[in-house]
Amino acid sequence: MMPLIKCPDCDYEILSRIGTICPNCGHTVSYFEGNKNRKKYGKFFALSLIIPFFSFTMILLTAPFKSALTIATIVYVILAYISSPLRFKEIFFTTFEKIFFWSIWLMSNALLVTMLYNLFNK
Ligand SMILES: [Zn+2]
Repeated sequence: MMPLIKCPDCDYEILSRIGTICPNCGHTVSYFEGNKNRKKYGKFFALSLIIPFFSFTMILLTAPFKSALTIATIVYVILAYISSPLRFKEIFFTTFEKIFFWSIWLMSNALLVTMLYNLFNK
């Protein structure tokens, strides 16, 4: 399950998990080493902060106009899906990261859904 990477010191195949010690040369795998996860992790981190903020602004601006608000709601749902931790499962190394990102996602979406619910029921 855990992807293999090549040890940066000796090219021996080792697990990408942080703290793995290469049995061949003793190199210890650090946080973002060797695989493409670093880029993905950065992208996801930015997404999970920017998207709720963007959705919030978009909903706020379109709130007075029901048809624009409907479009904004559709865009919001798509964005919420794009930024879902479900799509980025493989970048979480630790349970803490998983809980951290799920909490952010659930909290911001709970707020946004409540906001939309109130706006549509006004
Ligand atoms: Zn090695």
